[in-house]
Amino acid sequence: MAKNAREIITLECEVCKERNYQTEKNIKLQKERLQLKKYCKKCKKHTLHKEAK
Ligand SMILES: [Zn+2]
Repeated sequence: MAKNAREIITLECEVCKERNYQTEKNIKLQKERLQLKKYCKKCKKHTLHKEAK
């Protein structure tokens, strides 16, 4: 078993599906999929980015 509960996840723009960000989350504390408002350089505005799987 891995003692590290963190996982690298990719954040994907919900509008254009571009994968713009990578971040870490603690899979023990954060069980839901992440959703963050982030700047998308393809859409040229802030959009909702969701965890890609
Ligand atoms: Zn976008």
